Amino acid sequence: MNEHVVIAIDGPAASGKSSVARQLARRLGYIYVNTGAMYRAVTWWAVSKDVPVNDPVRVQQLLHFTSVECGLADGESTMRLDGIDPAAHLVDEAVNANVSAISSIPDVRRLLVGKQRAYAADQDVVMEGRDIGSVVFPDTPYKFYVDASPEVRALRRARQGLADSISARDKFDSSRRNSPLIIAEDAHVIDSSSLTVDGVVGEIIGRLKLKGLLPADYL
Ligand code: C5P
Repeated sequence: MNEHVVIAIDGPAASGKSSVARQLARRLGYIYVNTGAMYRAVTWWAVSKDVPVNDPVRVQQLLHFTSVECGLADGESTMRLDGIDPAAHLVDEAVNANVSAISSIPDVRRLLVGKQRAYAADQDVVMEGRDIGSVVFPDTPYKFYVDASPEVRALRRARQGLADSISARDKFDSSRRNSPLIIAEDAHVIDSSSLTVDGVVGEIIGRLKLKGLLPADYL
């Protein structure tokens, strides 16, 4: 049983969960783990090595010969592949286009889920992704699913100036056999369509008070 607190925040693309998870982690003094960035890093690595993302055997071979290190900087998760920081490439068009394929490979998930669990071995974490409440930490009592209407999500991504077919990605992520995007049965669902980041964080904090994780007078 994990002794550290895990706050799981799942949701579809551009639902606002990254901004919410980061701000919540800062307020609570927990570390922030962005698992989407981990799948993106592996995708960039495969694409930059010309490894076909739809070939699980080739991807697994690549990972077998790659040193994948996870760390922390300023309270946030980081990753290095053979010592290289992929941060500058995580929202490249080729990464957006191929990350769902890479994420559906069981060996990739096994490797990254192990690293995600390791973060919570010695610290309290806010972790965001697609399967954190359903698969990575199914026993945590603190699960949130942040959603927003398809129109609001498309607008948010467009405002970031990013080319990203979020509806295609969501469809793929929700229908894959391995750890699909689902709403965990015991997750608290928040529709962020008309809420600010502060508003969503406030709702989560209210819920954490009700659950006894935070004192009732926590500001
Ligand atoms: O959260 P973000 O949009 O950056 O995630 C990118 C992609 O990584 C998702 O579309 C999904 O395919 C994959 N992902 C996943 N499981 C997670 C986090 C992300 O499969 N826990």
